[in-house]
Amino acid sequence: MEALLAAVPVRVPFDPAEFCQRVAAWRGRPIRLKAVDTVAVGLPSGTFYEQDAADTILYDETTTFHHQCAIILHELWHLVAGHYSERTVGEDAAEFLLPLIGRGQLRRWAARDSYAATEEREAERFARRVLEIIGRRQGSALADRLGETFGE
Ligand SMILES: [Zn+2]
Repeated sequence: MEALLAAVPVRVPFDPAEFCQRVAAWRGRPIRLKAVDTVAVGLPSGTFYEQDAADTILYDETTTFHHQCAIILHELWHLVAGHYSERTVGEDAAEFLLPLIGRGQLRRWAARDSYAATEEREAERFARRVLEIIGRRQGSALADRLGETFGE
């Protein structure tokens, strides 16, 4: 976590797409962001999937910018840390994702759920850490709002 933050410093004002782009360059594999109405399509507020060419983070387009940042950072850590590598694509994922992404080479998919508490806590810690840095640098209440994001 600290190695990533040392290699890819957090800049303010924070632009999640720009940050993901630098993280992608650092790890040598493209990362795409895709905003969708996750509730409408029956997905969790954040999720990611991997294809041959790139990894994609899906996030809820209907929530606040701050919440979107928290979701994206959370999913980003799963990707960087290689979480859920054991989770293969199932029928449920295909049903959810195919209308959104078409018939790509879906390699794996992970939903944000209680599947692995340790990995969830780690992703949460990363998102919190980055938002704290942003909050400190911007002098805003970003970090405080994070409590609402990961209240569950
Ligand atoms: Zn997660």
